[in-house]
Amino acid sequence: MRILLTNDDGFFAPGLQTLYHTLATNPAYEITIVAPEGQRSAVGHAITLFEPLFAAKHTLKFGGEGFAVRGTPSDCVKLALQGDIVFKPDLLISGINLGQNLGTDVFYSGTVSAALEGALLGVPALAVSLASYEFRDFQPAADFVLKLLRNLNRISDGGLINVNIPGLPTKDWQGVKLTRLGKAVYENIFESRKDPRGRIYYWQSGTLTPDKEEDTDLRAVQEGYISITTMHSDLTDYNRLKSLTVLTEHLNFTS
Ligand code: MN
Repeated sequence: MRILLTNDDGFFAPGLQTLYHTLATNPAYEITIVAPEGQRSAVGHAITLFEPLFAAKHTLKFGGEGFAVRGTPSDCVKLALQGDIVFKPDLLISGINLGQNLGTDVFYSGTVSAALEGALLGVPALAVSLASYEFRDFQPAADFVLKLLRNLNRISDGGLINVNIPGLPTKDWQGVKLTRLGKAVYENIFESRKDPRGRIYYWQSGTLTPDKEEDTDLRAVQEGYISITTMHSDLTDYNRLKSLTVLTEHLNFTS
């Protein structure tokens, strides 16, 4: 199986490199990497149109070549799949991200957006995140991805799957849950500060509030489960679309 690795934390980020080492040492997988040259978290699905995409070629430890790109995660996926710089992959994996990508945060996530870009271009994709900034051992998560790949045919319909792994030692994982995207709500998002010249500025961060809803990805990870959510790009609200039928009768021109 040919796999394209990307992420939003950068080409040399430990999460991506640990996953690369775990997969590339397995003869079943041929791996290439096309990833941003540095930190591009929370850039969402942005692409670069008014600047060139410089791409530095790197020889990969277990064979082949990869590219560190001065662009966004979505740029990397588009360049890899449409720029003819690497092989055509059977699967795209975005990650392993440092920090969770859950609920409505997927709108901001470079990790999930890169995977979605793969799915939009017809390549099945996994977004994988380690849901912690303190527990930084990516090996258990990488081993889980390997296990997931061996069983993928049973769970994949060829689209996008968002996987979040709790930042805990393997022995403390509660299991695997299939979930829906929850709603990520933050408190104390903007902190007001003053610079040395007395100018006010704001720093955006915030604390995620616990999710009380059932069956969400947020709740599952909160409780120590690995969360698996299937996603697609169709944001259409079909129920509300039906409710607007009457409106079209008033808006349509009649001759
Ligand atoms: Mn990131």
